[in-house]
Parts: sequence; C-alpha cells; structure tokens
Amino acid sequence: MGDLTVYYYGNYNPIGDILAAATCIVFFVLMHNSYIVRTDTYSLFRRIIFTIFLASAFSLVFHLTLKHVDQVPHIIVYVSLIIYHVCLYAALILYILYGRLQLRLGRDTGKRVVILAMVVFGLAVLYECLAPFFGWGLRIGEKNLISYGFNIFPVVYTFLCLTIIYILVVYRKRIYHQIVYGILFCSLVSFGVLYAQTRTDESSFTVFSFIFPAFAILYMIHSNPYDLEIGAVDTFAFEKLIEFVHKRDKEYLLMELYLPELDVEGAVYPEQVKEAVRRFSGEYLKGGTLFQIGGGTLLLSADIARNGNYEQVVNRMLNHFEEEYPKYNLDYKILISKTMKRLETDKDYINLFTYAKSKMEVNTVHFIDDKDVDEYHKHRYILNELTDICKKKNLNDPRVEVFCQPVLNIETKKYDTAEALVRINLQETGRVFPDTFIPMAEQHGLIHQLSLIILHKTCEQIRSMTEEGYHIQRISVNISALELREEGFCKDVSEVIRQSGIPFGKVAIELTESQSESDFMIMKQKIEELKENGIKFYLDDFGTGYSNFERIMELPFDIIKFDRSMVIASSTDEKSEQMVAHLAKMFSDMNYSVLYEGVETPADEENCVRMNAKYLQGYKYSRPIPMERLTDYFEKEVS
Ligand code: C2E
Ligand code: CA
Ligand code: CA
Repeated sequence: MGDLTVYYYGNYNPIGDILAAATCIVFFVLMHNSYIVRTDTYSLFRRIIFTIFLASAFSLVFHLTLKHVDQVPHIIVYVSLIIYHVCLYAALILYILYGRLQLRLGRDTGKRVVILAMVVFGLAVLYECLAPFFGWGLRIGEKNLISYGFNIFPVVYTFLCLTIIYILVVYRKRIYHQIVYGILFCSLVSFGVLYAQTRTDESSFTVFSFIFPAFAILYMIHSNPYDLEIGAVDTFAFEKLIEFVHKRDKEYLLMELYLPELDVEGAVYPEQVKEAVRRFSGEYLKGGTLFQIGGGTLLLSADIARNGNYEQVVNRMLNHFEEEYPKYNLDYKILISKTMKRLETDKDYINLFTYAKSKMEVNTVHFIDDKDVDEYHKHRYILNELTDICKKKNLNDPRVEVFCQPVLNIETKKYDTAEALVRINLQETGRVFPDTFIPMAEQHGLIHQLSLIILHKTCEQIRSMTEEGYHIQRISVNISALELREEGFCKDVSEVIRQSGIPFGKVAIELTESQSESDFMIMKQKIEELKENGIKFYLDDFGTGYSNFERIMELPFDIIKFDRSMVIASSTDEKSEQMVAHLAKMFSDMNYSVLYEGVETPADEENCVRMNAKYLQGYKYSRPIPMERLTDYFEKEVS
C-alpha cells in the first residue's frame, strides 16, 4: 500500500468517526425527548443528522476494509467508499435545501444556485459510481496494490460549501442576523478542522466536521421556547403539531385544562399550580407535550400509538385530579378529545374547545364527541354565513327573514302594532332562530349590519301595507345594547327609515335594561337623539333582571313590555299578582303604556287586562309569522 495511501487518505484513526456517530446518536436522543416543533425544516434537519450518521458508519467501514484490503472482497471497499462520499455530498445538499426553505429562496437567483448545486451533486454521484469501473479514483490492482486516479471529493466538497456560504451571505437579511452569524461561525469551525486535518495528513475527522453547523441549527432554530417552570410550549408549536398529526395520519390525545380565574391579563400561575401541572403532564402519558394555548388554558397532547392504555391513564389522571383539586381552590373546566379527520387546523381545535367550553359548567370534565363537532361545524357555518351577510351589505339579503308577531291593542280590540323577530334561513341548516345566532352576531360585531337589514325589511313591509290601505300604527324592532356603541348608529338607522319614505313614528325600537353605567349613558344619549325624529322606544323584558327604576324613569320610553315571567308569576299567587298590578298601574299613571308578553291562555289574558294592560302579545293571538302574513291580522283603514 505504501506512501500513496498515506498521501491520499492520510492517517486514519477510527476515533473521529466513532465520535461523529455517537454525536448523531446524542442528537437523536435529545430530539426524541424534547418537544421540537414539527416543521418541514425540522424533518430536513433530522435527515441531515441521519445522513451524517450513515457517512460516519461507512467511512469507518471503508477505512477499515481498505486497511485490510487483502482480507475482504474489494467490492466492499468500493461500495463503502461510494456510500461514504455520497452521504457527505447528500449532507451538504440537505444543508443547502434546508437553507433554501429557511431563507425562502423563491424564483430569484437563489433558486438557480440550488438547482446548480443539485446538478453538481448528480454528476458527482455518477462519477463516484462509475469510478471503480473506469479506474478514475481508487484502484485496487493486482496483489491488492492500491493506486489513485483523480479524487473528485475535494472539488465537489468545496463547491457545495461555497454554495452554502454564498446563500447564507447573500440572503442573510431574510432571517434574524444572530442566527446567520451563529451558523456561519460554526461552519467556519468545520473548515478549520478540515484544514488542520489536511495539514497534518489526517483523514479521521472529515465526517465529524459536518456536525458543527448542525449544532448551531438545532440550538438556534429548533430548540424550543419552553416555559421552564411548567414546561409548556406555545401555540405555534401546537399549530405545527396538528399539521404533523394530519400529514402523517396519526392520532393524538388532547386534554385541555382551563382555569377561568387565570384567564385575565397579567395573571400568573400560583406556585402550587405550576408544580401540579409539571407533575400531571410529566407523570402519566408517554411523550406528553404541554402547550400554553391562551390565558389560563393549558393543553396536553400525547401520541395514542405510544399510549395504548390511554383510557385508563386518563381515568387515573382525573381521579388524581379530583383528589388534589380542593387544594388549589381554582375553578376549572377539563376537555378531553382525540384528534379527528373532520378538523383541519389548530384553530379548528382551539375554536371547538372554546365552543364546547362555553356550554360547560365550571368544575366539570367533558369528553368531546361527534355531536360536539357537528354542533361546532354548524356554529362555524352559521357564523360564516352571518359574516358573509354583513360583508355583502345587501339590505334585501334573502337569507334574513323577518317574522312578525301581531300585538293586540286592548282599547281598540284590533291588531295595529307588531314586533319584528328575525330568523335566518340558510341552505345547509334551514331556518335558524335568534337564540342561536344573535349571541354570535353580537360577539363578532355583526349585529348592527343585521339590524339594518331587519329594519329595512320592516320599513318596506310597513310601506307596502300602508300603500295597500292597511292601518299600521307601528312595528317594533329589537336592537342590542351593544349596538348602540356602534359609531354612526343613529345616522344609519335614520338613513334606512328615511330611504323607505315612511314616517319615523311607524317604527319603534325595543331595548333591554343594562346593568352598566356607561351603557346607560350611551342608551340615554341615543334614545334622546332618535326620539327627536319621532321614533318610539320600548323597554323589553321588564321583570327579568334587576330593574333600576330611577334609571328607567330617566329614559324616555313609550312602552314597557312586561316579560312572560311576570304574566306567569301573577297567575300563580296573589301577592305576585298584586305586585305586578301595582307596577303596571304605576307605569300607566306615569304615561307609559304597558304591554304584556307571552299571553298564552284566556286566563293569562284576563289577568293582564285586569292589570292595566294596554297591549297584549303572545301565542294566544298568534305565533310570530312571516311578515307578509300580517295582512291576516291588520285591518284596512276605513275611508
Ligand atoms: P324577545 O324580544 O323577548 O321576543 C319574544 C320571544 O318570545 C320571541 O322568540 C317569541 O317567539 C316568543 N314568544 C312570543 N309569544 C310567546 C308566548 O306566548 N309564549 C312563549 N313562551 N314565547 C313567546 P324568538 O322570536 O325566538 O326571539 C327570541 C329572542 O331573540 C327575542 O326575545 C329577542 O331577544 C331576540 N331577537 C329576536 N329578533 C331579534 C332582532 O331582530 N334583533 C335582536 N337584537 N334580537 C332579536
Ligand atoms: Ca323583544
Ligand atoms: Ca321580550
């Protein structure tokens, strides 16, 4: 073998490759046991480590078989050399692809550089594979004599390394500079090691030198912002977990702990709770990962494949929780679910949980099932439709249906007023009732636009019926207190009524009392402003909350609507009846008209009439009907 071998491969000591392989194993152990966000770049990174591991193994095989070339089939020497070199090229190519993703090299020159590197890689692999046949590189001649042709490795290596440096330097502005510097510096250490190695005729540390940039990448990019005290990672990590679960067709268990008292700005987890969270998330499920999803919300996930007995484990956890819970004295809600194909993104899960939570009592546990998902999907669908309705701003949107409930006027014994009640009619769900969608519309700031549509349709109905000769004193429309805060509320309302050309007095607005002082001030201001135009005002649902008479008197309502609960109460005992009768009398004496809602039976009617009723509304007369059918109740003006 002699001098040539020494010249070509230098002094080889397996220690370098053993260290490289061991380091790769350490990487794998760390990666397996820490939660790393499951991004595409992370998968590439794992491949880099794996490739380096392979390279170290085959370098070992190659060098050892070369040393004992007389004792092994030559094919092993050739093949291990090819794999060894190709793995190192591949590692560099993967570093380049990794850089392409992280630095978002798109249509620009960056992409061309990457393609060039791939072409060089392809040619290099071809050369390495053909070399033994044509005697281009390593040759094992007769009597196991070793000789060399042209070694392509340093050329390809240099080219690919320069490509990496080029990309890093040219596109450095695209990521946080500290990260670029960190990776560049670690790459320089690699070159330093290789340089020192060639100077001393060594070839033991070639593979090991590939690992330094990987250290930098793992540490600077993929290490996680754990909350060191409770061990939770953030929502971004959850987003990537869900992507990973769906892409790989996995099934994960998700457990959410919601602590409403910690769901406030600036709340900190008490020490005891942190300790408990650490214990619970670490002790029970294999590979459990904890996510901090939002205020007071922690989510524990675990791969079901790794926790075959998860049902028992969950039960044990819950029992344990039940025992410990009194210690913390914090309200909670616990949700348990599996990942499902029907949900796509992390947002879907978070929204589903939020939705399910809103239906739960505190200090309960709920297992998410198909029904919850159905309901949630329906909820999303309705919300999307509502959003669309409001975005389109079409005052005639056919999805919004106005029903009306005629109201009996006691003095005239005729129906001359009515209440407009909204429904929405959607393709997938059919007709939806206000209890379902009004809270949604309020929550998502969609209520005002909806009200304008209802108001417009109501005005149009009043106009057309009046034109046909019907006598309509007025129709009332429900408005949410929230809406009054909307900028331009009065202007928008006035504008819609004005456009229809009917007198303002034909429209009334129903409002419910609100507890807050600021709501009250706003309500007062808006009522006063709109009353100037002639719009009438009803106080809705009187008797359902804590009424503040002083405030009610300050607001210029025209009609007080006594809630059905008052009607029911008055028919059950005499004391209540007296109280309701007194209240009604008091309002009448002060020039408010009293309307009773929810009159269902002749007995109800009789009671209400005795108790100063001016108007009666309820199923006894009519259920809410499509507004076109008001013509069945209202009478034509006698001219
Ligand atoms: P509300 O304003 O108190 O409306 C009266 C509700 O009682 C209506 O339910 C009506 O169908 C029902 N009702 C009428 N007569 C009787 C009766 O004799 N017995 C019983 N048990 N119930 C009766 P609906 O239409 O489902 O409306 C529910 C609530 O939705 C309304 O309560 C109101 O708060 C809200 N809402 C309806 N339409 C609108 C709207 O256009 N805008 C806003 N912001 N809220 C609306
Ligand atoms: Ca009402
Ligand atoms: Ca009411």
